[in-house]
Amino acid sequence: MKGDDKLCKSCLTGLVKTGKKLHIDVIKYEKELKKRDAQKKKKLKKVKQPKKIIDKKKTPKSIASQNRLKSIHWKDSQRLVLKFTRALKRTELNTFNLNYTKKKQYKKVYDIHAVLSKSAMQLSHSSVKKIRLAQFDQNTLRIVFENDKTIKQEYLIKGKELIIKMSRKNQKLEYIPIKENSSKKIIVIDPGHGGKDSGAVGYKKYREKVVVLQTSKKLRDILVKRGYTVYMTRNGDQFIKLRQRTKFANKKKADLFLSIHANAVPKRNRHKAHGIETYFLSSKRSQRAENTLRAENVDISKMDKRSMNAALHLMSREKIFASNKLAIDLQQNMLSSLNQRYKVKDGGVRSGPFWVLVGAEMPAVLVEIGFISHPSEAKKMINHRYQKTQAIGIANGVDRYFDKNH
Ligand SMILES: [Zn+2]
Repeated sequence: MKGDDKLCKSCLTGLVKTGKKLHIDVIKYEKELKKRDAQKKKKLKKVKQPKKIIDKKKTPKSIASQNRLKSIHWKDSQRLVLKFTRALKRTELNTFNLNYTKKKQYKKVYDIHAVLSKSAMQLSHSSVKKIRLAQFDQNTLRIVFENDKTIKQEYLIKGKELIIKMSRKNQKLEYIPIKENSSKKIIVIDPGHGGKDSGAVGYKKYREKVVVLQTSKKLRDILVKRGYTVYMTRNGDQFIKLRQRTKFANKKKADLFLSIHANAVPKRNRHKAHGIETYFLSSKRSQRAENTLRAENVDISKMDKRSMNAALHLMSREKIFASNKLAIDLQQNMLSSLNQRYKVKDGGVRSGPFWVLVGAEMPAVLVEIGFISHPSEAKKMINHRYQKTQAIGIANGVDRYFDKNH
């Protein structure tokens, strides 16, 4: 019966059971059974616990790592840089491969004696299928590259940095710095208009409410990937009153409120107006904000000037200032992201009394992602790749804002 544990166990159990019934001394068998159970438990425990990847000698498990991942970013299209709070020792890194040739699953694992102070995240690069970063145990930050063929990579430790060189260049530049502080931040994205209110109707009858929702959803996905908590004022085509939008953000205790819109001008001017603009709420209205104001404030035309003034009066100088800074970061990062591939006009950062921003208890901006009335800009705006590039830019702006201000 050696070697066949199951059979052995059932025999012993049987012996004990029947032995007891027949009043035969079964202590010997009981002992054997207990021993086996204990062994089995031990075995199970061993299986349950994932393989210890880090060499015990190299990294004492009892000591929680003081080293934290500070940032992660692509240095260029081929090199991923993980930057830590202190210098990384060679002994604090362990790499190995996990290859499942039958499943066509190849993994390259980097275990680093460090702490990732945020939830797990995924990155992407065209040379592999998946890149996942997570806290493996108390002291081990694990980064796993997965592909359907063998992964060839080189790496280098340089002071506080671990640089991983991918086998080939990335075709799409779609990933940018991830900041560790993002996990605690709450963002409310407000796709403009919706339902009976289609917003601006532009070139080829493209509707603002549709385009801004598409871009907003992409922005949401990117921000979530980067560890932010994100809420949308609408996920579908429904009408929501302007004031409800900031109320929602207040209720969610959001750190930022981003209202996403598209601009438009009358048909006769459609070739003239294009570009992206970012607005923040202020009693000062820039001259060029006039048209946008008229378009975006349209469904609250009944509200009088006095209540707007009262609302503006209640706004603190700090909040206006913070919103202004946020607007600058978003605008700059949108431009730099989009200009890598497209040519986009910088419409600048402006201020004005926008109703959709009134009442927000956090820095709040309104982004005009482009002129839906402009023939070639509108065509780009409905393109998913363009939308994603723009969303990445906005997300980078959010990262940048928190990086500087918190
Ligand atoms: Zn709008």
